[in-house]
Amino acid sequence: ATPMSIMVATGRGANAGVLIRDAEALERFARVDALIVDKTGTLTEGKPTLTDAEPAEGFDEAELLSLAAALERGSEHPLAEAIVAGAQDRGAPVKDSSDFEAVTGKGVTGMVEGRKVALGNAALMADLSVEPGKLAERAGALQAEGKTAMFVAVDGRPAGLVAVADRIKETTPGAIRALHDLGLRIVMATGDAEATAMAVAKELGIDEIHAEVSPEDKNALVRRLKEEGLSVAMAGDGVNDAPALAEADVGIAMGTGADVAVESAGITLVKGDLGGIVRARKLAEATMRNIR
Ligand code: ADP
Ligand code: MG
Repeated sequence: ATPMSIMVATGRGANAGVLIRDAEALERFARVDALIVDKTGTLTEGKPTLTDAEPAEGFDEAELLSLAAALERGSEHPLAEAIVAGAQDRGAPVKDSSDFEAVTGKGVTGMVEGRKVALGNAALMADLSVEPGKLAERAGALQAEGKTAMFVAVDGRPAGLVAVADRIKETTPGAIRALHDLGLRIVMATGDAEATAMAVAKELGIDEIHAEVSPEDKNALVRRLKEEGLSVAMAGDGVNDAPALAEADVGIAMGTGADVAVESAGITLVKGDLGGIVRARKLAEATMRNIR
């Protein structure tokens, strides 16, 4: 493309809150066949709120939430913030914890009032040899609603579960439809559970999902699609997503997300609105058409 046409395209993008790093990012984006999107914070608002607290036998809701919040006070995960805020809203007394440990991609553990408490996904429970029993079924039902369900265990026994929901951004469904219409293959990647991911994907008409993936898995997924001969863009918001953004032919960062994601990206969506991806694609295609 001519320098002039690229300046015009990047200028138009900037006016619309779509920051295109350079000519190369624009040219590459015109050729992209597949777009991998992170779920939390990209398709969804990234501001989960507590929706459910279901104590197991021998526990009540206030106690369950107290224990959960005591642990999550030590975590910076968006899920943790939702649990602490939700517990406070519901009037559960806030307790202190010690020996806090974050288990990446799984949850948190620590001591609360002399009891060993763990909070996280099924993988964490399996690691700790906690058998969730009936709670597993309830978790499945909550996940089918697109919620993230987390188990709480006390001294090696299930104490209940808590669930949070994260709203799909208003602009997401339209953007996904438009990108499909533009011929892009859309793939969802998330650290969340398969059932939760499937519920969200179904609502958005996304037919390819990779759930329960670690940041390294996201990176590997980008590489795998590239090896299939596809030109790959990856959109994400988190520190977690930065390696995959860098690995992709074009990384797309949410301006509302982590700084390192923005630094790894060829395109930044200032308002974190996926409509910006549609606009960027149209600008890129128009620019490339003009020069051929
Ligand atoms: P994402 O891609 O959704 O940002 P993460 O890798 O951060 O996923 O987390 C994956 C899963 O691990 C979460 O869906 C949750 O079940 C569990 N998890 C991680 N951190 C926490 C935490 N602080 N509290 C509870 N659960 C957690
Ligand atoms: Mg995320």
